Amino acid sequence: MSLIQGETGEWEMVIGLEVHAQVIAESKLFSGAATAFGAEPNTQVSLVDAAMPGMLPVLNEKSVEQAVKTGLGLNAQINLSSVFERKNYFYPDLPQGYQISQYLQPIVGEGVVTLDLPDGSAKEVGIERLHLEQDAGKSLHDQHPSQTYIDLNRSGVTLMEIVSKPDMRSAEEVGAYLEKLRSILRYLGTCTSNMEEGSMRCDVNVSVRHPGEALGTRTETKNVNSIRFAKQAIEHEAKRQIALIEGGGAVVQETRLFDPNKGVTRAMRSKEEAHDYRYFPDPDLLPVVLDADWVAALKRDLPELPDAKKARFIADFGLNAYDAGVLVAEREIAEFFEAVVASGKGCDPKQAANWVTGAFFGALNRDGIEIAAAPVNAAKLGGLLELLDAGTISGRIAKDVFDAMWDSGKDAAAIVEEKGLKQISDTGAIEAIVDQVIADNPGQVEQFKSGNEKVLGWFVGQIMKASQGKANPGMVNQLLRKKLG
Ligand code: ADP
Ligand code: MG
Repeated sequence: MSLIQGETGEWEMVIGLEVHAQVIAESKLFSGAATAFGAEPNTQVSLVDAAMPGMLPVLNEKSVEQAVKTGLGLNAQINLSSVFERKNYFYPDLPQGYQISQYLQPIVGEGVVTLDLPDGSAKEVGIERLHLEQDAGKSLHDQHPSQTYIDLNRSGVTLMEIVSKPDMRSAEEVGAYLEKLRSILRYLGTCTSNMEEGSMRCDVNVSVRHPGEALGTRTETKNVNSIRFAKQAIEHEAKRQIALIEGGGAVVQETRLFDPNKGVTRAMRSKEEAHDYRYFPDPDLLPVVLDADWVAALKRDLPELPDAKKARFIADFGLNAYDAGVLVAEREIAEFFEAVVASGKGCDPKQAANWVTGAFFGALNRDGIEIAAAPVNAAKLGGLLELLDAGTISGRIAKDVFDAMWDSGKDAAAIVEEKGLKQISDTGAIEAIVDQVIADNPGQVEQFKSGNEKVLGWFVGQIMKASQGKANPGMVNQLLRKKLG
């Protein structure tokens, strides 16, 4: 928890998020129109999405399946009966004049998400509900000097609105929440969760209070489209509210907008209440009734999710919580890591984790490529670790071999052979180098004898250098100690 010092004491921020996640599905919630990102405006619009008179919505089963899977992944209650309602409001890019959403009876009820915080601790955030609803179209204000254009491609696309409880207490926790949500949805294959493409957006509810007091009045900052902006909006909004209250004012419940250029929030409209929308069950749609066996089958078929995978990596591979968390954040990374461990016979999983998150990620970032395009695949990295573990190459040489593998795409063994990089583990050969270095440096030998232990490290360095990094460091240490007495 991070408290903010004000003039009237310490303040705590209270945050709850409403996340809109676009469901991965070929077609929209109630029509057969396509949903591909980046299509030409108004090319993915059916008569239903354009709200032509007399058109009737037909529920897309895939959208329901995705919502249920997501609910299961959030450890949430699945409601076997739920109801679509009309939420009535006017907006130029909402041709129906209402959004079909769920209100009193959502498809998913309470659940829980576990946050992995940067200090290694975990925290649970409650999920209030998840419901299905239609997205609206998009107004384009920058296409013409005096007119606004409307693109209805998004109209009717399936959204899951995932509402958290007001359980978060810092911008950092909100970052961890969005990251974990994104990770879970990607594992499940229910949402791409690309905030920059708009497939995941969030409304940020913030209030402040002195610790221990009742909840304060919240504001809601709409449509924040990156984790960084969400954190900035929260910091700004909490400070604004504290200053307002300490200056004798009061927070009004309102809807605000975040300005990413200035890093501030601005009032947009006073808060609407649920009754303003005149919700009522959509007469064109029957209640959604799910078969318990169907839900159970979906549950059985869920992939191993990040929390379970992390626990397994810690238990089976002896990884620490931080490394395990980094490796499971994305499914592709976790699978890559496991493939490295499986193919590097006898290799130490902790060392494999270091190589994946260190040299391998470093090279991916430097070249700006994805795992699938990397010149070093899991089997090749495993092969390198095998040589390292068997003592065929030293740790120092291994990094050079990795770089050569990355550049050439060759196996570790081939490079070691080609360049003659095999570690020298032959006692006679090492002894010769040790003797030489000792003979060349009588001054340092004196220092060591008069009690300066640090010189030993210096000697190891000299010997490694003389062997071009190929001497077995363990043996070098042993021999040195013996010789220096
Ligand atoms: P609305 O549709 O009016 O925005 P919702 O129930 O959909 O209401 O969402 C309310 C959101 O606001 C939830 O994420 C909830 O956790 C959060 N919230 C409720 N009260 C507070 C509060 N006092 N401070 C911060 N967040 C709050
Ligand atoms: Mg809301």
